[in-house]
Amino acid sequence: MQEDIKKVLYSQEDIHNVVVRLGKQLAVDYAGKNPLFICVLKGAIVFMTDLIRQIDEFVEIDFMDVSSYGNATVSSGEVKILKDLDTSVQGRDVVIVEDIVDTGATLHYLIKLLSTRQAASIKVVALMDKQAGRTIPVKADYVGFDVPNEFVVGYGLDYAERYRNLPYIGVLDEHVYTH
Ligand code: 5GP
Ligand code: MG
Ligand code: MG
Repeated sequence: MQEDIKKVLYSQEDIHNVVVRLGKQLAVDYAGKNPLFICVLKGAIVFMTDLIRQIDEFVEIDFMDVSSYGNATVSSGEVKILKDLDTSVQGRDVVIVEDIVDTGATLHYLIKLLSTRQAASIKVVALMDKQAGRTIPVKADYVGFDVPNEFVVGYGLDYAERYRNLPYIGVLDEHVYTH
């Protein structure tokens, strides 16, 4: 598997440092608030499990799976729910946990949905922000890394469902796409 990685962008240590920083900040900002952390499946799962263990406060977790309609280059901004939350967000302080924000379509949809469901507050923590990909102006409140406009895998992120279990984040070698 690792021979498919052309370049390591963020090492395990880089990621750990960023997760500790984000966890500490969230612990301060959500002290005593019992926030609901919503993991956007599947990519954010590794990040979320590490992140919540850096927060010395009561938190609850839930999971949601969504998929964008259309192709990768043109985002319609329409998103379909594949798995909904088990928890009511009404009156809750929610924190959306994302692996990476690219076009912004997923986030835009989720923020709209959760505000329709009357969450008390909605913030976003994203491990990575790919600002060059943005077509819908939406911002993450907490960002781990600002990433270049490259397709990254590892630490939860996949290419064709592979590489999620890489402990670091890297860029795939071209031969993976072309065979
Ligand atoms: P958006 O709706 O912001 O365009 O897309 C967000 C989702 O697209 C991410 O949560 C992620 O699943 C996927 N995505 C965007 N950029 C990348 C990337 O560089 N690598 C991988 N593996 N997935 C990406
Ligand atoms: Mg995601
Ligand atoms: Mg994917």
